[in-house]
Amino acid sequence: MTAKILEIDNVTVSFDGFKALNNLNFSMEPGELRVIIGPNGAGKTTFLDVITGKVRPTIGQARFKGRDLTSLKEHEISRLGIGRKFQTPRVYLNLTPRENLEISGNRNKTVFNTLFKKQPSSERKTIIELLETIGLTAQADTPAGLLSHGQKQWLEIGMLVAQAPDLLLVDEPVAGLTDEETERTGELLTALAESHSIIVIEHDMEFVRQIARKVTVLHEGSVLFEGSMSQVQTDPRVIEVYLGSAPSISAEQMTLLRIAASMAWSDGTLEREEKALMLERLSQQFASDREEQAHLREELETYLGKDIALEDLVPLLKTDEERELALKLSYEVICANQINPRESAEYQRLLQLLQLPSDVVNRAEQIISAGLAR
Ligand code: ADP
Ligand code: MG
Repeated sequence: MTAKILEIDNVTVSFDGFKALNNLNFSMEPGELRVIIGPNGAGKTTFLDVITGKVRPTIGQARFKGRDLTSLKEHEISRLGIGRKFQTPRVYLNLTPRENLEISGNRNKTVFNTLFKKQPSSERKTIIELLETIGLTAQADTPAGLLSHGQKQWLEIGMLVAQAPDLLLVDEPVAGLTDEETERTGELLTALAESHSIIVIEHDMEFVRQIARKVTVLHEGSVLFEGSMSQVQTDPRVIEVYLGSAPSISAEQMTLLRIAASMAWSDGTLEREEKALMLERLSQQFASDREEQAHLREELETYLGKDIALEDLVPLLKTDEERELALKLSYEVICANQINPRESAEYQRLLQLLQLPSDVVNRAEQIISAGLAR
């Protein structure tokens, strides 16, 4: 018996010989919140189209809770409990959020549905609870046309949830939203993930970091990589696909760089001195001659993202040597200018995560301090 909520086996989708999906394999556990990323044209939308029955696989099979979807029509798949949110909100603008939610809640109450749909695993929420969840209680009775773009997105997510699907498919929910709306959307999806399985397709990396547990990277119609966001961001193949050229440093070296960068970013800004120091040290560490070092400094600059979580990165360090190196580099970075409380707190957090013996820490700090004093 299968426990997976979704399985995609060897799916290929050909459009006149062009493979939008190419031998794609994917599976997901019930209750997962999975983020799918990939460059334009990677096949993300086609992937959702296959699940919802909009596009049929040329080869292969898609299964929902063990049931083959390939011969079902779109509305039949939707009734099985798969809801999809498209990029642009499709809400009734002249109706209020409350009315929009009521209509959606009733849409699936056909005779077929009430007779055959066994009790949905995700409980049907009341309209009032739903309005609360999507943060529109205060706007419940004003026309949806007056809502902000973000509020319309939340309303549409609420309308999907009103249909009590088990699996929610959400295509680029934060495109065009403000930073604050983006963060709220992340909170909403995280809350919904407690009672639904969710697939989110997204470009916005900071948003992905906010919500992601496991990330699947699509490229040229296949799965290129699967892992935590930190693993994704340090994987040379993924970087190559996103930036167009392969990094000349390894995933381990990338991890070191990102840990050091998180010290520098902890006060919200990356000071020029901190940046220069990190790039200089790392280039000396990883490249031997001057020309190579100069090239590497330029390259490393592209990897200095501020969306970094130490908790995910530190476990990627494999040896005590790497942990000690991460410590030294980070200590040097925070000593680059006046240590402020945020940097200091971030450094303490790093020390806790690294779990190096205190004599190792003391020695490393002394070596760096002595070097700096010179
Ligand atoms: P993504 O959503 O990751 O940007 P898509 O799934 O939309 O990618 O598209 C994957 C590839 O398949 C693209 O190269 C696109 O041009 C092609 N494609 C998608 N749909 C069709 C179609 N109906 N006919 C022909 N080519 C298509
Ligand atoms: Mg797309």
